[in-house]
Amino acid sequence: MISVESLSKRYGEIKAVNDLTFEIKKGEVVGFLGPNGAGKTTTMQIITGFIKPSEGRALIDGVDVTVSPITVKERIGYLPENTPLYDDLSVFDFLSFVASVRKLNGKRDQAIKETSERCGITEVLDRPIGTLSKGYRQRVGLAQAILHDPPILILDEPTSGLDPIQIGEIRELIRELGREKTVLLSTHILPEVEQTCNRVIVINRGSIVADSQIENLKAELSGGSIRVQYKGSTPPDKFRSFGRIEDVVEDEGVWSFRITPKEPTMDIREEIFIFCKERDIVLLEMYREKRSLEEIFKELTLEGDSR
Ligand code: ATP
Repeated sequence: MISVESLSKRYGEIKAVNDLTFEIKKGEVVGFLGPNGAGKTTTMQIITGFIKPSEGRALIDGVDVTVSPITVKERIGYLPENTPLYDDLSVFDFLSFVASVRKLNGKRDQAIKETSERCGITEVLDRPIGTLSKGYRQRVGLAQAILHDPPILILDEPTSGLDPIQIGEIRELIRELGREKTVLLSTHILPEVEQTCNRVIVINRGSIVADSQIENLKAELSGGSIRVQYKGSTPPDKFRSFGRIEDVVEDEGVWSFRITPKEPTMDIREEIFIFCKERDIVLLEMYREKRSLEEIFKELTLEGDSR
């Protein structure tokens, strides 16, 4: 549905996006995660046809966004960062304006009614946008993005600046929209991705550093390290055949260390158990090290926020 092929964007000396390639299939809800300045907004602006890439291309349903920008925009709902809204207009007038730009004509009133109900803004349709809370403004932003019922949604930091209750409400709305639409949403907040998306693309300094289903991400990136503790008079060199040995600590004849297997997704606990049993090594403790998504993200984007 969305294809990004070797996409790059330069601003003078700055390479905002560097040779990005990924594909998003119909029905996927993908989190585009990265620290400030990673290149998320730039990528989204290229996909939505608002700016042109320096190299590479973005395709929507096989159509190059720079070749047929109007066709592409009909298929996409876009919520830009800092949603531009007209403060003096009422919500209804603003959505009417969007409907006319989208050429909804005869379908206008029905589209506004359905979208307002969906986004929970029916009760504020007569209010000037400038008087709304940030949460409601964001709902109006989402309403303008989905008014023409596009199959694809591109949402740039949809919960930024909202309070925790508003964040919960917007996430719920996105989850609901994700049941029938293909969604790409950018964020630098990990729980957002965990709660809303089924796949995450992590970007740092314009390049992809991870692309994974949420449930696989931790396993793939945790390196499958095992913590082992045993009683004995000799250090854990004998475990070398399993992988890299680190963090070796000895305390009154109890050795603790970490083994990282050569193949990161391999679970070597059973082999270690048999190895210890065969050699009469008194195994006191063994567990797979778990790392939070937060730790993984920090590691992936360690040099990230420097621009
Ligand atoms: P944030 O989370 O802060 O919005 P981002 O991941 O969306 O960050 P971008 O806004 O795409 O990142 O910016 C990527 C890099 O490109 C940054 O270094 C930014 O300063 C630079 N950049 C973006 N737009 C322009 C522009 N119009 N002119 C010059 N540099 C730009």
